[in-house]
Amino acid sequence: MDRSIRQALEKVGSLSMTTLDGTTMHSRIISICGCDDEGIYFLTMNVKPFYRQLKKHPHLSLCGIYPSGQKTGKNAVGQPTWEPGFTLRITGQARELTEDEVKKKAEAGSEIHRYFLEDASRYTAIRFFCIHRGKGEIFDYDFEMEHRDHKLLRTRFAFGGESYNDAGARINADDCIACGECFEACTFKAIVPGEPYRVDGNRCDECGSCFLACPQEAVELSRTI
Ligand code: SF4
Ligand code: SF4
Repeated sequence: MDRSIRQALEKVGSLSMTTLDGTTMHSRIISICGCDDEGIYFLTMNVKPFYRQLKKHPHLSLCGIYPSGQKTGKNAVGQPTWEPGFTLRITGQARELTEDEVKKKAEAGSEIHRYFLEDASRYTAIRFFCIHRGKGEIFDYDFEMEHRDHKLLRTRFAFGGESYNDAGARINADDCIACGECFEACTFKAIVPGEPYRVDGNRCDECGSCFLACPQEAVELSRTI
């Protein structure tokens, strides 16, 4: 897993994890134990509904924010403000680790797995999981442009053999007449003038203003990760 993703996970620390119980979704805050090349580790107890949900449906989603989602005030036009930061979201699949796997990793020097073994000696119901496959996004925001000249910087990623779609709206080159209406409508500085115009997806909020402004219907809406 890419170093920047690991660092983002470490900064957020605890995230909301959603699992499936039949047709009902359940979310709770969990603490991430760490990550390595194989994935992202967390734990639970085999007596909890959380464990049963994971065993039945290994698909899950994670979402967190750093440093805080608290509003800090209002800007000059009365909109709420936030301290610059980022959100992190991942959708993926988890599998339970065997005792043997945990021991082998601990013997090989993994701090995370050594910690798992210590915890297992205290709590017999404890079980360890690895999100071994997934995709996600770091959504870095600086809405008041305190530290750069644009609001967003989005980074999508995948691991464990997963793939992802690029972020942002797209402009169909064949339909664009380079009128510039989308450039005027975009408050995220995500439209790049040219012939044709194009969207810098990593700066795009997917707000739809360009989609609504374009006289040629040349803008295509974004896809899910
Ligand atoms: S508004 Fe539509 S036609 Fe005009 S530059 Fe943008 S994408 Fe091209
Ligand atoms: S969807 Fe919104 S943020 Fe993205 S390019 Fe269009 S106007 Fe800009």
